[in-house]
Amino acid sequence: MKRRHFIKNASLTGVGIAVGSTLTNCVEATSEEAKAESVAMGDNSEATLPLVIATWHVEAATAKAMEVLQAGGNALDAVEQGCRVEEANEKGQSVGKGGLPDRDGNVTLDACIMDKHGNCGSVVYLQNITHAVSVARKVMEDTPHVMLAGEGAKQFALSQGFEAEDLLTDASKEAWEKWKVEAKYKPIINIENHDTIGMLAIDKNGDISGACTTSGLAYKMGGRVGDSPIIGSGLFVDNEIGAAVATGLGEEVVKTVGSFLVVELMRQGKSPQAACEEAIGRIVNKPNSNYKDFQVGYIAVNKKGETGSYSIHQWFSMTKYQDGKNEQIQSDYFNKS
Ligand code: ASP
Repeated sequence: MKRRHFIKNASLTGVGIAVGSTLTNCVEATSEEAKAESVAMGDNSEATLPLVIATWHVEAATAKAMEVLQAGGNALDAVEQGCRVEEANEKGQSVGKGGLPDRDGNVTLDACIMDKHGNCGSVVYLQNITHAVSVARKVMEDTPHVMLAGEGAKQFALSQGFEAEDLLTDASKEAWEKWKVEAKYKPIINIENHDTIGMLAIDKNGDISGACTTSGLAYKMGGRVGDSPIIGSGLFVDNEIGAAVATGLGEEVVKTVGSFLVVELMRQGKSPQAACEEAIGRIVNKPNSNYKDFQVGYIAVNKKGETGSYSIHQWFSMTKYQDGKNEQIQSDYFNKS
């Protein structure tokens, strides 16, 4: 199901971080998967590892990541493989192939990845390559750099064997052509047109990695880059503390270095939920904040395997795969007026 479609048709009334198991579309685990390893983590809390969480409603992606983790794969492989599922999904118009283009009709991708050592790689304004997250991983592992942009990123990807393809599908082209009729030259900001896939995983060893991939804001200005490929804004992982990833209006996330902030708040002792809430607070409590016009959402996990999610507006959700359950969890949110 398209995430936008889900958002428009959602008829949930109870909103809270623990209502996921009542939602439809939960994927039952196999008995093998249900044998997840249980790890006592102290503080009377017990997390069952491995676990994976992702922004929005992406059960196929979290299922893929869990498959990797259950097979003994590490968290880094899991988040890369999970994100690739959505990048290849042409029906998802916010990530990889089929992503909505900028105002000139060019699909430009941003992605990043970060491992348990704090290593990271990122690509910005990448064109014609579906699996931006894998290019980001190559940047991390096979170059002395953290970030490659535009044509340089594309040429690097081609040199690594990635294939060039046209990412503008008929459906996205049609949507862009409709948008061009009025072509309002400012980003359309609402709670439905930004669906970055951010994914965080803890493997059986208790190590954390994260990744983030997006086609960015629909009909953005040519050359615009959001938060998603910016380490600390769209994603941050600290294997001693936890990890966080963002979705929504990237400009607002960048201004508050959102994901780093969430992790630092967890370092100070906040739960993932409380940390996500405070990071949203930093945005909405700014003097003259126009938060009513845009959405931002965070998800986070700490080293204990506790998770949290929070957004400005209703209908943000997190997909969580843990304890044999792959479920969508509706996020609590700030703007209840
Ligand atoms: N955060 C992304 C950006 O600003 C958009 C999204 O979450 O869909 O590019």
